[in-house]
Amino acid sequence: MARFYVTTPIYYVNDVPHIGHAYTTVTADALARWHRLLGDEVFFLTGTDEHGLKVQRAAEANGLTPKEQADQTSERFREAWTLLDISYDDFIRTTEPRHYKAVQQLMTAAYDNGYIELGTYEGLYCVSCEAYYTEAELVDGKLCPLHLRPVELFKEDNYFFKLSAFQQRLLDWYEADPGVVSPESKRNEAMGLIRQGLQDISISRTSISWGVPVPWDPAHVFYVWYDALINYATGVGYGSDPARFEAWWPAVHHLIGKDILRFHCVYWPALLMAAGLAPPHRLYVHGFLLVGGEKMSKTAFNQIAPATLVPEFGVDGYRYHFLRDQPFGPDGEFSYEGMVARYNADLANNLGNLLSRVAAVVERKCGGIGPAPSSSGRLSEVVCDVYDAVDDAWARVAPSEALETTWRLVRETNSLLEAAEPWKASPGPEVDAVMGDALEVLRIVAVLASPAIPGAAEEIWRRIGLPGSVSSQRLPSAAAWGGYPGGLPVEKGPPLFPRLTPRVD
Ligand SMILES: [Zn+2]
Repeated sequence: MARFYVTTPIYYVNDVPHIGHAYTTVTADALARWHRLLGDEVFFLTGTDEHGLKVQRAAEANGLTPKEQADQTSERFREAWTLLDISYDDFIRTTEPRHYKAVQQLMTAAYDNGYIELGTYEGLYCVSCEAYYTEAELVDGKLCPLHLRPVELFKEDNYFFKLSAFQQRLLDWYEADPGVVSPESKRNEAMGLIRQGLQDISISRTSISWGVPVPWDPAHVFYVWYDALINYATGVGYGSDPARFEAWWPAVHHLIGKDILRFHCVYWPALLMAAGLAPPHRLYVHGFLLVGGEKMSKTAFNQIAPATLVPEFGVDGYRYHFLRDQPFGPDGEFSYEGMVARYNADLANNLGNLLSRVAAVVERKCGGIGPAPSSSGRLSEVVCDVYDAVDDAWARVAPSEALETTWRLVRETNSLLEAAEPWKASPGPEVDAVMGDALEVLRIVAVLASPAIPGAAEEIWRRIGLPGSVSSQRLPSAAAWGGYPGGLPVEKGPPLFPRLTPRVD
């Protein structure tokens, strides 16, 4: 059995969940669901990143301990993922004891291997980014380029990770396995960063206390970024369950945004190599989700919470939109009007309409009992092509293509019904054949679309009378033509995706 380990970045606990976080998380969830249908053993990890100066300062301002602060804010991410039907297997928090053990063990291995040493660091630090900047990177030589706030001069004794020792090994790794980072433009970007030359990086702090202590020098804590990366190892048992880690690592698929490419595609594999571990199997990098042409940020007040869209679009409408409308890789542009248009076209008019039409005709012409599909025909051929293309698209982490192709089946069936007009014909074998084929397409679409619209897929399954659940089906057999047995009661329910009228405000 194949193992499929998929991760989202762990989200910074001071952030409020917005559609950008949800974009990565919904994509990871859809991938996890697809691989479960394939019969793979799946492990899906998400969580929150809870250390660093920002959390420490927010806690002080609120009169809380940093841990109390993190307990409150971490919960917002869990709530968002519950709302969006995210089927994660584990939610990791970097303040958990298992994570402290993993960080300390991994860093100690790198230290013992001679890749970590003490030095002095002086630099310009943005507290909001938790990152040092060079003067050249700053706006007007003094403002953080992301936050446009003054940076602070920090000087401290730091442990340094000898990243410079890994330049050639990283390049060799990239060249030996061209699929490590995709899309290819991001692979080139990562290789470009490595070829420019790698400098040793500071990985500990003495100026703050809210972090994982350096085990051989407890006056230091590890810098939040390096502690955070190690969550991916903690999640599959590093530091606590060696056999489990052995089984799952490095079969990992990291989904990340392009703003954290350097940490994930350069620092993380090098850190693993330094500790004597294998680098990650696959990294998939997506662009920003822009709102009104701008990156979402607290300062721009353009962050949109998923909870503001779900009441109108439903959970499945929400999930479908972001998976279908935003190709994974380039920057995407979110607009409310675009979301309404996509929902109405694909869900209300295409899929929803197919289901209600079929149920109505089966009720009037087939006595409410769904007939069996024909043994072959035009749709059975389309199903074959569609399945191969859909499988390939999910394997490439291209949900937008996978759904576009799945909807080809819906459109072709609607066209076929419009040509055959079974609602005008007299009951009999001809109507039965058309309706059996349409029911078979609904069954297959329910399976293929279920990673995106899990709730609606189960509802289609139930209404066309099938026993069990979509999630217990297994591919590829569940997508093979002829699975709808016929003789099942078909239920005519309310519209699965009621048509929306755009709000004007
Ligand atoms: Zn900043």
